[in-house]
Amino acid sequence: MTGKTHMAVGLAVSLSVLQPKNIKDVISISAVSIIGALAADVDIKTSKAGKFTKKISNYIMALLMIFILVIAADKLLNIGVNNTLFNKVGTDKVFFIVMGALAILYFMIKVIQSSHRGFTHSFTALALSAAAASLFLNTLQAVAFTLSYLSHILIDLLNKKGCQLFYPLSSRYCFKVCKSNGIINDILFWVSCIISAFFVVYGINLFYLPI
Ligand SMILES: [Zn+2]
Repeated sequence: MTGKTHMAVGLAVSLSVLQPKNIKDVISISAVSIIGALAADVDIKTSKAGKFTKKISNYIMALLMIFILVIAADKLLNIGVNNTLFNKVGTDKVFFIVMGALAILYFMIKVIQSSHRGFTHSFTALALSAAAASLFLNTLQAVAFTLSYLSHILIDLLNKKGCQLFYPLSSRYCFKVCKSNGIINDILFWVSCIISAFFVVYGINLFYLPI
């Protein structure tokens, strides 16, 4: 499916399930839903997102290596970095940030290694990105991200190119119902736009409708 359809469907799914009741929640849910809906397609190597992923994965790897080296060096030399870091930031926070960074790094390496609709279009990647999202976002945003990511995988199943749903198993699945840029893609886009508009109006009672 096209990027705009993924965005529209992701938004519609998140807004209809979570039904935000104020502008702030509408905006934050919409923002993370759009990111979640597009995240799976970073495996298109020629896309801007794909090139950016390749570049940034090196920096994250370097930062993690420096972090591990500093912690290890401090254990040996006892300069006090560990105490300051863990006391100021909090042991649990440091742990979660490192685990989150590792999850994102693993995701990026798999993106670079796998073919289109491979790892990123699997339940494995969905679980991993949901776990990483829950470390960095609040509950509402993390659920929105996960729902829109799931919607991306599900509507891609309608096409002829299979998704590697149970990565690392190599089997690919698809329903072969439609082309990725045909009439069903357009219908999904417009229906999702209408659903999203309804839930924004309904949720924040934009026009004071008696509903
Ligand atoms: Zn896709």
